Amino acid sequence: MRLSRYFLPVLKENPAEAQIVSHRYMLRAGMIKQQAAGIYSWLPLGFRVLKRIEEIVHQEQVRAGHIPLLMPTLQSADLWRESGRYDDYGQEMLRIIDRQKREMLYGPTNEEMITDIFRSHVNSYKDLPLTLYHIQWKFRDEMRPRFGVMRGREFLMKDGYSFDIDKDAALHAYNRHMVSYLRTYERMGLTAIPMRAASGPIGGDNTHEFLVLAQTGESEVFYDDRVTALKLGQRDIDFDDRAVVADVCKEFTTLYARTDETHDVTAFEAVPEHHRKVGRGIEVGQIFYFGTKYSEAMGAMVVTPDGSRVPVEMGSHGIGVSRLLGAIIEASHDDKGIIWSEEVTPFPVGIVNLKQGDGAADAACEGLYKALATKGLEALYDDRDERAGAKFATMDMIGLPWRITVGPRGLASGVVEVTSRRTGESEEVSPEAAVARIAQIYAGV
Ligand code: ATP
Ligand code: MG
Repeated sequence: MRLSRYFLPVLKENPAEAQIVSHRYMLRAGMIKQQAAGIYSWLPLGFRVLKRIEEIVHQEQVRAGHIPLLMPTLQSADLWRESGRYDDYGQEMLRIIDRQKREMLYGPTNEEMITDIFRSHVNSYKDLPLTLYHIQWKFRDEMRPRFGVMRGREFLMKDGYSFDIDKDAALHAYNRHMVSYLRTYERMGLTAIPMRAASGPIGGDNTHEFLVLAQTGESEVFYDDRVTALKLGQRDIDFDDRAVVADVCKEFTTLYARTDETHDVTAFEAVPEHHRKVGRGIEVGQIFYFGTKYSEAMGAMVVTPDGSRVPVEMGSHGIGVSRLLGAIIEASHDDKGIIWSEEVTPFPVGIVNLKQGDGAADAACEGLYKALATKGLEALYDDRDERAGAKFATMDMIGLPWRITVGPRGLASGVVEVTSRRTGESEEVSPEAAVARIAQIYAGV
């Protein structure tokens, strides 16, 4: 993409309404525009990152054996009356009346709808286990939308629903989700710690939230700091192997890690003092086993091997896809702007032409741009007639992990400069070597 033809409305000043760094930088980098309280347009740069995050979420769900589908944003109130939640949900639900005077709502979540799909088509244990998920916009009329995409009213969520014949199988689905989530966050460069969550009126302790540590997080968290060193890495996990999956979950949930909602002072004090940490965290996901709450209320029954009919065992599992952009920026930035990882960056590399209009510099940039494209790498080429300082400031703000800087002086000695956004380190290499270097970096991504 040539920047002269792109749409990147970068802001020079800090917007007054943004209280936290991710919100400020998303506005400054021209990623989003607020349209109403908690409702945003995703401008081209933000949209690119959102799509990349969505793609990682999809890949890890499919890897775990879960099946994508797409349900609508608008739902019928009647469905929610069946579960009793139409009246219970309260003010957070946006209620809509259509021209036939039918009561509708903009879905805040999809348990009722997926249960309806399930009961219409599945009635035997032979069709289980089954996990269906989608990535779809939700609406919750939050009391205090704030912090940009972190607490929006309209936001993108991955929500998955597991259906199993009995509790053991349902808990395996829960564990599968935990492991797939750990890998999802890790791929985005995040350390998201599973913390036992409060289960509310349903009971049981089979719910975990995933928290990314950040000063600006809305939850207070208490943890053994050794938990931050745990990594899933490249382990090849057989998601059908209950014992293997359960062992991974155990590894990641044994050390103390709780939010203020479930904090247990006595258990926390058993953690060696120098490992005890209190901080703040951003909730980027939650998994939940709730058994037959919806299947019983809505008649989603399955025949067991011995011929009896039982309500199907369910769980629901969510990832805050749009919130993740904010969480990633909170975790990875400096005073000049965002620092994306190779996995989520909107463009793999930026090209800065220090002297637009200089024949040699223009030709070298064009050459780099095309050579990168043939390797499947779409560079963002700053071909504007701007000062070098302004070009660097833009590149630093939008946070591409790599920059190739091209100027007449370097070219005279046959080199361009390759710079890492994260470390600030540069090396001077030939244009061919620069392309090879960037291609090598992205070979494993
Ligand atoms: P919170 O406690 O932050 O209000 P929640 O527990 O109500 O969130 P869930 O129903 O667990 O949310 O939704 C799954 C995920 O969706 C959350 O873990 C979070 O990452 C994301 N999410 C929830 N509400 C919002 C929101 N208003 N804006 C952006 N993302 C959200
Ligand atoms: Mg939650």
